[in-house]
Amino acid sequence: MASESPDSLGLGLDEPPQPAKAQPYRVLARKYRPQSFDELIGQDAMVRTLGNAIKRDRLAHAFLLTGVRGVGKTSTARLIAKALNCIGPDGQGGPTIEPCGVCEPCVAIAEGRHIDVVEMDAASNTGVDDVREIIEAVRYAAVSARYKVYIIDEVHMLSKNAFNALLKTLEEPPAHVKFLFATTEVNKVPVTVLSRCQRFDLRRISAEQLAAHFAEVAEKEGVEVEPEALALIARAAEGSARDGLSILDQAIAHGADGVTADQVRTMIGLSDRGAIRNLLGLLLAGDAQGALAVVKEQYDLGVEPAALLRGLLESVHGITRAKVGGAVDPAQSHEEREAYADWASRLSYAVIHRLWQLLLKGLGEVTTAAMPLEAAEMALLRVIHASELPDPGMLMEKLASGEAVPAASRAPAAPTAEEQGTMLKAPPSFAGLVDLLTNGGKPHLAQMLHDFVGLVRYEPPALAYRPLKQLAGDFERDLAAALKALTGTNWTVEASDGEAEPPLLEQEKMAADALRQSVLEEPIVKAAFEAFPDAELADYTLKDTRSA
Ligand SMILES: [Zn+2]
Repeated sequence: MASESPDSLGLGLDEPPQPAKAQPYRVLARKYRPQSFDELIGQDAMVRTLGNAIKRDRLAHAFLLTGVRGVGKTSTARLIAKALNCIGPDGQGGPTIEPCGVCEPCVAIAEGRHIDVVEMDAASNTGVDDVREIIEAVRYAAVSARYKVYIIDEVHMLSKNAFNALLKTLEEPPAHVKFLFATTEVNKVPVTVLSRCQRFDLRRISAEQLAAHFAEVAEKEGVEVEPEALALIARAAEGSARDGLSILDQAIAHGADGVTADQVRTMIGLSDRGAIRNLLGLLLAGDAQGALAVVKEQYDLGVEPAALLRGLLESVHGITRAKVGGAVDPAQSHEEREAYADWASRLSYAVIHRLWQLLLKGLGEVTTAAMPLEAAEMALLRVIHASELPDPGMLMEKLASGEAVPAASRAPAAPTAEEQGTMLKAPPSFAGLVDLLTNGGKPHLAQMLHDFVGLVRYEPPALAYRPLKQLAGDFERDLAAALKALTGTNWTVEASDGEAEPPLLEQEKMAADALRQSVLEEPIVKAAFEAFPDAELADYTLKDTRSA
């Protein structure tokens, strides 16, 4: 796709931003800042609570607004300031959840110039002196408004002394003062302050709500934006209306007429989905040369290696959703959906699961590596290598069908575990770990692991397992201690309710059954049973590669 349209390559060939119109340009995020609670997206529960509090005249002296960045905390704070100070078009109104927006206080607050509504950013005013200024001013009555309102953004940034100074005022606040605190990190706000605030948690805005909002804005701006582009922007905004509007702003500035999904993708560094799907196909087919060529090609086009890995992860996620029959993601193109459905029908959950883990690990390495491109190549080669290993289910099938399993493929764990295992002197596989415990004088722990535990993840020195029955309370601790004693390394041992393999005991039974079945299927054995219908297969030995 990228090769067809030079504009989407991000090579600076795009149209320059359009010349400014007659009126001064205002960024969308500011232009469409909500001016009433109706316009606040996705915070219905909070608005209802607030409305009730205003109606019953039960407003706290201090509010704490929490939520991710750009979700509308400061906008909400200003709306509350308006709600408290609105006097209505006729100048006679009281506090209301529906501030009129036309009276002097409403207009002044909206324009950020009301003398009794003070906004302070704690990120740049962290000290006790900054707070002291407020505390001094608090004692005087409001100049013109009903309430003096102090909006303190990023309040968690205040110093300990500043908080202490503030606390005295919060304990005995004058009746005409309201504090509105906003924070992205509520856990950093002292409990003493928290306990004196009415708290409102602003919810992360869903991608659907954001996309709908952006569609409205685009329409008001008279700009044509593809629905897929809106969905992409909404997803990239990660719950933040402000961030999403900034992206939309840029996209509109770049697009000559209208905004396409391709433009947005290039702009926010999402690599070409077609290339990603191609790459995933090559990985699954085990085509190392082809895969590396795609990586190089994308890199030359300016796609970050991490973006490639993220794209692959998104694809795997898309395949998983298709497999479980999840709702359709509006950010997916038609081709994408078809490809995902096709893969979903061909890949087992075990393979998808392993792909996800390997790619996720790869992404972690790429983002921290000094050489991201090389790290990405290594990560993808590992995926190819691992995909050559049959998953336990396939191993069973092959055993059952009598097909020879290459010796190198018998290792149940991914090669990463092996590599790490060698370095740590830890066994290369979970089964090996159980043997180590058996031979290391911990047969009881070994038996528990062998019989009653499903393996979720084995990445020495980390083990995640799913207990299939109640294990003794000290199991985890004892196991970690035993492993440390036997390998000389600290292990992370944890119970998990993630997707687990069957317990080793179960796997061995299944393998034995499959083997027994395949023996029974042998023509000569079949013939024997036909001749002696009452015979039983008591025991058998194998002469070929099938000995497990
Ligand atoms: Zn008003």
